[in-house]
Order: sequence, then structure tokens, then C-alpha cells
Amino acid sequence: MEQKIQLKESDIPRQWYNLAADLPTPMLPPLGPDGNPVSPDMLAPVFPMNLIEQEVSAERWIDIPEEILNILYRWRPAPLKRAVYLEKFLDTPARIYYKDESYSPPGSHKPNTAVAQAWYNKEFGIKKLTTETGAGQWGSALAFACQIIGLECKVYMVRISFDQKPFRKIMMQVWGANCIASPSNETNAGRKILAEMPDTPGSLGIAISEAIEEAVTDPSGKTRYSLGSVLNHVLLHQTIIGLEAKKQLQMAGEKKPDIVIGCAGGGSNFAGLSFPFVSDKINGADIKIIPVEPTACPTMTRAPFAYDFGDTACTTPLLAMYTLGHAFIPPPIHAGGLRYHGMAPLVCQAIVEGLLEPRAYHQMDSYSAAMTWVKTEGAIPAPETSQALAAVIDEAKKAKEEGKEKVILFNYSGHGLMDLLGYDAFLSGKLVDYELPEEELQKYTKVLENLPKAEMRKSGKW
Ligand SMILES: *Cc1c(COP(=O)(O)O)cnc(C)c1O
Repeated sequence: MEQKIQLKESDIPRQWYNLAADLPTPMLPPLGPDGNPVSPDMLAPVFPMNLIEQEVSAERWIDIPEEILNILYRWRPAPLKRAVYLEKFLDTPARIYYKDESYSPPGSHKPNTAVAQAWYNKEFGIKKLTTETGAGQWGSALAFACQIIGLECKVYMVRISFDQKPFRKIMMQVWGANCIASPSNETNAGRKILAEMPDTPGSLGIAISEAIEEAVTDPSGKTRYSLGSVLNHVLLHQTIIGLEAKKQLQMAGEKKPDIVIGCAGGGSNFAGLSFPFVSDKINGADIKIIPVEPTACPTMTRAPFAYDFGDTACTTPLLAMYTLGHAFIPPPIHAGGLRYHGMAPLVCQAIVEGLLEPRAYHQMDSYSAAMTWVKTEGAIPAPETSQALAAVIDEAKKAKEEGKEKVILFNYSGHGLMDLLGYDAFLSGKLVDYELPEEELQKYTKVLENLPKAEMRKSGKW
């Protein structure tokens, strides 16, 4: 039996899969400031029109340009691996497979969309991309893509991470990007906040506002903004993961997975792996599909489904999603990529429909799962990936109790070699669990009362 199932480069998927075409009940549209659905034109100062077309597309399959594949071949097709050492350790009848997205140059799934976005912007005549980054995973992925494709890249990095986590900042600089601490003196939004709070640690919401401002105010019109998760076109680009996995499972002699698992911050790596299988489920397949989040930021498991802004400064359109409220200040857990207040609208509509079974884990459980992985499979997972591992191990134990040969598939979204401070805290006993208190949840979601209501529409089949 092969532990690594490799696709030939000539077998790479040539189209992305768009779940919007198959959802039994369509998503609610994004709304503008006047409460009416936004038109594609309104997004034109922020994104290039070719990506806006993908954002609103209802086509099931969208061709991947050959030039993008030529860049992705650097690490794709990514291997599907079987976690035989973990299976043995758990003494489970389950067969556990994972897509190893840690193979990419920046070390996560994020360059799958960074490369595509940079390429479409370049095609459209754009010279420079701006973005925000928290711990730096997204910023480093976009820096990598922009360097390969030949675009300027400016990254607003949340001040506290900029100071405390210098390594991803250096990665961005090595890949030729200009990475500055946010809030900065370079935008009106940044200057205003610095005047009020000179010592602020910054936030993703502030950094998004700065990056969008720089893009829309460039008098040459040659700068656009880029987002690393949440939006439909981002999830679309990530579906190459699940489409590869489908072919690889067949090569391994598996008809279908019984359980599909991914961690979800904005939803992109989870959607990338799972959406092709959500499609099978819509067409009758029996598959349990689990997005996993931290108990500290319980968007899918506890927050209301509502219209909300994507950023703290309320500059984006209103999206229908499970949300903790745009003013949510996440507790400082180490899975930095899972601290967003909202969730991809496509993932949320699939939850409303009953197609997904979201689950939350404590930080300590996810670090324990990571340690089990480290001592069996060997690699050090990202703290975000460890959340998925906690669910994988639970499901494998359950298969043992039930004596069932379940096929479990999950997304190994990235390595943790830039996240060692979290492991240090875990090993020295400084890490604590955190569950968002109900009063806090009530307080943060109060802002939703004055926004349009989002109706939970579903077919009732699941
Ligand atoms: C950013 C990140 C995530 C979370 O983002 P999604 O858009 O939900 O995928 C998960 N894992 C890793 C390794 C990341 O870098």
C-alpha cells in the first residue's frame, strides 16, 4: 500500500468547481449601504472585473488558465497521504487520508488563491496589490505570488504581530513585498487611529481599512486590493484541493470519504477540500462534512446568521453569514488564522441548508491533538490545522468504538514552523482554554440589530 498518492502533473484539475451553481437554495446577495444588492460596478475600484465576474458567477465549472497551472506546478498536484502511523497509534479501523497543503513555498493552502488573484490582476493591467495580514500567512502567500507574477505588493500587518512575530514579515520582504505595521502614517484611516490611540496594537479590521484605502485612492487607477479568504472567488480557487483529492482517493481504491474535515477561519481551506464532496452529498452521497473552529471564536457553532460587514470600519458590503459582529475582538488564541468574526457566505449557506456539521474545539485539545500528530506522523502542524486534527482523532476513536471502517479525509492546511511560540507556551504550561462567555457574545452581536435581517432559507432535504 502506498502512503503517498501522487497525481501526475498532466492529471491536475483544469477547472475550478463553483458550489454556488449547485446549492439547493441560493445564497442571499451582498447588500450595499442603501440596503440594495451591490452591483458588480460598485466593486470595481476594489477588485479587477475578471475576479468580480468569478465572484458573482453561477457557472458550475470555471477554466483554470494554463498560465496559472504553470505557476502551481511548483508544488501541485499536492500529495494525498495516508496517516498510517496515526491510525496505528489510535488502533482504529478508520483509514485516514489528508491533503498536504504545507508543501507550497509559503507553507499553506493560501498561495492557491494568491497566485490566481495576482495573475487575474496582472491580466487586467493592474500594477500593485494591497492587502492586510494578521500573523502573516496571507501576506507571505501574496508576496510570493506577486513576485513570481511581477506585481508590486504592499502588506499592512497588524502592529502587534509585526513586532512580536518578525519571521513572516521577513519572508514577505525576501519575496520583495513592502510590509508595514498597521495602523500606519500612510493612510487617513491609519493616521486617524494613531492620533486617537498612539499605542494601539492594531487589528485586522484597521489593516483592511488601510489596504482598501490605498487601493481605491491611487490616482493612476492601477492598484487593487486582495483578500485571502471568505469571498466566493477565493473559495473557488481553493477547490483544486478537493478535486485533486477526489482523483487520488480513487487511485487509493476508495469509493468515497465517509467524513471530510477542515479547520475554518474564513472558510477557504475547508471549502477548497470539501465543496466537491458537498456536491456529491447534494446528489445523494452519504458524507459527514465537518468545519472546525475554536471555542474562543465560535462563529458557526454559536453566532447568529445575519447580515454584517466584513471589516471593523464598516466599509465592505453587507454579507449574509454567521457572525460574531464586526466589532468582535478575538481573544489571543494561537490559531491566529481562525479569529475572524465572520465566515464565508457560501460555507454559511451550506450550514443553513444542513449540509455541514460545524464543531468547536478548545485550544488545549487542539494542541494535544497536534502533539499526537507530531509523535506519530512527525511533522509540526500549524495551530489552525491542529483544530482539524482534534476532530480527526475524535472521529477515528469513534470509528474504533463502533468497529466501523470509516474513510476520513482532512485538509492539512499548513505547517507550524513559523508558529513555534504557541508550542513553547503549550510545553511550558502557559496555555489556557478560552470559551467565549455568553454575555460577550450578546454584547458583540448587538451591532447586528440595526442591520438588515438575513432570512434562513433552506430546501429542508438535510
Ligand atoms: C489562514 C489559515 C487558515 C484559516 O483560513 P481559511 O480561509 O479558513 O482556510 C487555516 N490554516 C492555515 C495553515 C492558514 O494559514
